[in-house]
Amino acid sequence: MYVEETVSLPLMEIATVNFNSKIKRVSGFPEILFAKSDKKFIQRKGNTMYILPGYTTHYEENGAIYVSSKLLQNKVMLTEPDIQEEFRTIVKSGGCPEISTPLTKFLHEQELLLNNEEIRTAVAEVKNLLNNTLMLTIMPTEGCNFRCPYCYEVHRAVSMFRDTLDRIQEYITEQASRFPNIHISWFGGEPTLCKDVILETNALVQELQEKHQFHFTSSMTTNGYLLDAKNFQEYYAAGITDYQITLDGWGHDKIRPHVSGGGTLQTILDNLVLLASLDAERYPFHITLRRNILANDMDFTWYDHLYDLFGNDKRFFMLVVPVGDWGGKTVKALDLQKKESKKELILAHKAYIDKIGMQWGKQDEVPFSNVCYASYPYGFVFRPNGKIEKCTVALDHPKNLVGTVDPDKGVILDEEANRLWSGSDLKSECSTCPSLLSCLNLACRKQLVVDGRTEGGCPYDARLAIK
Ligand code: SF4
Ligand code: SF4
Repeated sequence: MYVEETVSLPLMEIATVNFNSKIKRVSGFPEILFAKSDKKFIQRKGNTMYILPGYTTHYEENGAIYVSSKLLQNKVMLTEPDIQEEFRTIVKSGGCPEISTPLTKFLHEQELLLNNEEIRTAVAEVKNLLNNTLMLTIMPTEGCNFRCPYCYEVHRAVSMFRDTLDRIQEYITEQASRFPNIHISWFGGEPTLCKDVILETNALVQELQEKHQFHFTSSMTTNGYLLDAKNFQEYYAAGITDYQITLDGWGHDKIRPHVSGGGTLQTILDNLVLLASLDAERYPFHITLRRNILANDMDFTWYDHLYDLFGNDKRFFMLVVPVGDWGGKTVKALDLQKKESKKELILAHKAYIDKIGMQWGKQDEVPFSNVCYASYPYGFVFRPNGKIEKCTVALDHPKNLVGTVDPDKGVILDEEANRLWSGSDLKSECSTCPSLLSCLNLACRKQLVVDGRTEGGCPYDARLAIK
């Protein structure tokens, strides 16, 4: 009647999180071919509809209908005309009220047709995987060698004191045996102003990795000005393979000037061209070229220029973000895109980038890819002054503070304050949302925790306005 096919069950892996086999379930026609899933379904209550969860996809090809799940990596093929008709009716009606026919029983067993409660249970299991990751953002300094008017940071030339760094390193050492995944993200201010701190800390984590065998990844958000080939090779050897660097189009020099007042674009481009010349097999890095855009900026010729430089190098990705009022005084003088039309503006840029064949930096289909680091239960931002916060945008907001690095006592965390940032239930629209696995309704907790928004709006959309 309908044939199943299994696909391999790859580890769902993203830059920072190594999903393991805990959510793996064998797919197949249970009585005949494969072991039955060990999952206990919650019994249906009331009049809940059974729906195709947002992480499923379906399409027709060569007379068959294929239905698959990004969560379980299973896929079924429906071939019989009456079964196909029943499936189309389910899709057209947005689900079905009960599990009673052979098709609905099969799809339910395969977790391709679930009610809201069952989807919540499946997603809760995925969310638990976030507990496996120690996700640290370290700001070794709040000083910066640029003066961008949209920057929300105040650029106090505060760099981390030695004893604060020592306590953070001790904390990582203590925690290292507990986590299958450790990610260290370097942020600022401009982190490359503190190269020694970065190299020393990552070397420590690499030593710990030898001992405890966790999966270690590291990234850096940098303006790229000091990222020449020599420095880059040192950072790369220290495990930093993932970079975000901002190039703000033809107007870059005006909007991202050096602290001395001079332009910065050519130096960054020269650096990037040198990095592109590094052997791709030896240096399989991932560089996201971010562009911040002002209101109605539809100049796409910048992407043609980038394509000429990096278009054939699969290590480069693009990201476009409308400038928002992220805080600070100087941003008020800029012409910002209106909130309602931000998404359309980004989509227009993305469409052009896709058209010329450059890669887009955010992969919606990758699990966890839109979960903010602030939503990780063990995600912490270490600031140079010893504050431990969650979100890098709401710096200094009291709700953002979840601990301190005490020079004598070490890392002290406020568990209750921290919990506010990771506990989120799905909204009703999440169940069928195609971004469900990448977002988990954890794309931006700032809206809720800091801004006090209690309802409505999709944090993923709103995040476009923030990041
Ligand atoms: S919060 Fe929005 S993007 Fe995220 S899963 Fe829910 S509906 Fe989708
Ligand atoms: S503003 Fe939202 S998405 Fe950005 S760091 Fe803060 S919580 Fe995360």
